[in-house]
Amino acid sequence: MDNLRFKALEISLSRKVKHFEAPPKASGYFGELTFSKKVMQEYLSKDSFKKVMNAVEEGSQIDRATAHEVATSMKAWATSKGATHYTHWFHPLTGSTAEKHDAFISTLEDGTAIERFGGDELVQQEPDASSFPSGGLRNTFEARGYTAWDPSSPAFILDRTLCVPTVFIAYTGEALDYKTPLLKALSAVDKAATRVCKLFSEDTKKVSSTLGWEQEYFLVDSALYKARPDLMLTGRSVFGHASAKDQQLSDHYFGRINERVVNFMQELEYESLRLGIPVKTRHNEVAPNQFECAPIFEETNVSVDHNQLFMHLLDRVAQHYDLAVLLHEKPFSRLNGSGKHNNWSLQTNNGVNLLSPGKTKEENLRFLTFLVNTIKAVHDNTDLLRGHIASSSNDLRLGANEAPPAIISVFIGNRLTQMLDEIEKGNGLENPNDGAENISIPKIPEILLDNTDRNRTSPFAFTGNKFEFRAVGSAESCSKPMIVLNAVVAEQLNQFADKVEAKIDAGTEKNQAIVEVIREAVKESKSVRFEGNSYSQEWVDEAAKRGLPNISSTTEALKTTASEKSVKLFEKLGVLSERELKARYSIKLEKYIKKLQIEARVIGDLATNHIIPTAIRYQNTLIENVKGLQEVLDNKTFSSLAKNQVQTIKEISEHIQEIKVNVHEMVEERKKANNMEDEEEQGEAYYGKVLPYFEKIRYHVDKLELLVDDDLWPLPKYREMLFLK
Ligand code: ADP
Ligand code: MG
Repeated sequence: MDNLRFKALEISLSRKVKHFEAPPKASGYFGELTFSKKVMQEYLSKDSFKKVMNAVEEGSQIDRATAHEVATSMKAWATSKGATHYTHWFHPLTGSTAEKHDAFISTLEDGTAIERFGGDELVQQEPDASSFPSGGLRNTFEARGYTAWDPSSPAFILDRTLCVPTVFIAYTGEALDYKTPLLKALSAVDKAATRVCKLFSEDTKKVSSTLGWEQEYFLVDSALYKARPDLMLTGRSVFGHASAKDQQLSDHYFGRINERVVNFMQELEYESLRLGIPVKTRHNEVAPNQFECAPIFEETNVSVDHNQLFMHLLDRVAQHYDLAVLLHEKPFSRLNGSGKHNNWSLQTNNGVNLLSPGKTKEENLRFLTFLVNTIKAVHDNTDLLRGHIASSSNDLRLGANEAPPAIISVFIGNRLTQMLDEIEKGNGLENPNDGAENISIPKIPEILLDNTDRNRTSPFAFTGNKFEFRAVGSAESCSKPMIVLNAVVAEQLNQFADKVEAKIDAGTEKNQAIVEVIREAVKESKSVRFEGNSYSQEWVDEAAKRGLPNISSTTEALKTTASEKSVKLFEKLGVLSERELKARYSIKLEKYIKKLQIEARVIGDLATNHIIPTAIRYQNTLIENVKGLQEVLDNKTFSSLAKNQVQTIKEISEHIQEIKVNVHEMVEERKKANNMEDEEEQGEAYYGKVLPYFEKIRYHVDKLELLVDDDLWPLPKYREMLFLK
């Protein structure tokens, strides 16, 4: 077969731009494929509609009769939109989503058929769960697990299939998914934040966590993608010399979006909007062929579901344009990787953003309360936050001088820093007397949004009216960071309320009590605040002095998720039990090991079957050439002129030798690791013994890429993959 790279290049060069035109006015088709509140209102009786709303807002149970009515309405609505099937749509511990479609059609005795979908099918299903990871929670011989309807996330139609968002639980009650603990964490933060809000006013009945994600991704022509086994199997290029030009001119960031990509984006947005995903922002990112899309924020559970759906649509729609989407956190070495910033805040049932400064002193004291408690929650739990975003791929990005480092710190900007410093010193807070109006808290500008400094290097930054958790990986579900963040904030808010209430009981005036506890928290959490360049070595040194954890190894980071501290916290809040946490840890560790195992195999195979034979072919041509020169030239001329070729021949041999030796050693280390019984030991062996060979082998392969005749090189090069036209 001819060189696959050239075939792929030829195909990619012959692409014609495919145009896409969405119907006019997005508001006209927004949410048309979702069983939205509006549709429910239309289809359900008043009474049933109210019951569903109660379930959504207060988590109340939906009775059988109502469930049946909802199911019948869903069926009528979905079939009117052409749906033929239904499925429970859930988030198993694989990290992606799962579905098993059943047709609505049901045959009758008289030989005819009808569409059937009742309350029973809506509320609960029992998919064969034996092949999903459970981390030992469920033995395969009793593979029973069930999915149960989550009315708080709207059902939707995808591929003519009605998809009902559900939780996925073992019959023993343990969660086998990411939605169950997320819903529990959201409920915990609701309770805790409502309790704290009640210190200020009785109006607050409910507090919702809000999430606005920003999804970064790369696009590569699908023909070139298919000619790179590493991209296909691991999502990243394990080899590839840097392109002479890549991101050094910063000419891609916010640049004009090329026509092929913009058409892709338009179709992607059209499909997203129809599914009720409120996509809003799109732009070119820093690295060539890197892009970003962000929606308007939503309640966290819905937003998490929407991100999962969005990732699916990305992949799907890209294929219509002969593009492959890379969601991997670091698909191209030495270029910026991709993150998924999680913008997060808390919002009351009255629509008040608790992280937005208010107009009155009372409102500002409440703002300060939530700001400082969030900082304190992060301070106390940097290890857990780090642990829940760890993966083999994200850890290639964290700390790689383009993404927040593995040290979790908080950025709040100059003005707020000054204010917290004043509070710490006790300035202006001494004469509270009674009532908030008499308390002199430092003045907070009403709108911080426009004057909060931007610090792109911080893993957890306050941006005027929300925090932005920037260390989250692009391929991950938002549920993991959202479970841990909402849980730690809930825990902190509870501690805060306990302390304030105790002070009030002991006779301290309420606002004074609040200020005193805030001051304590400001002092205790000071070390996590960092305003400088988080990418710098000075910060690494400074953080070490401050005693902040810098967990760069994935295995260490993952360990924190099942630590004694983690168990205590999650059990106390009722979010995850010890058994569940340990099972999840084991699944993550196994996934880490398997991913490295796959990468190691791909590296070994490509080096041995693609790179070395190519290098030898080229070397043979050089040898022929040298032999020829020797024949036609006199000895003296020959020894001066053939020097370069001979030198190249030697260099090629050296690189081949290094690759061979390192691949062999890597395989030996892998064998040793594979034989280890203990999973943690195995994980550490993969991290400490196998992983270091990846870069060593790559170095020599990339050197060969520069030496070997371009005509022979089998893998599409960076410069060919990175500049879509
Ligand atoms: P930038 O890239 O400057 O950080 P973007 O506009 O790309 O900003 O993204 C900001 C994200 O923050 C959007 O998804 C937006 O909806 C979200 N956001 C804004 N306010 C809130 C809030 N109160 N809670 C959660 N997310 C929010
Ligand atoms: Mg952002």
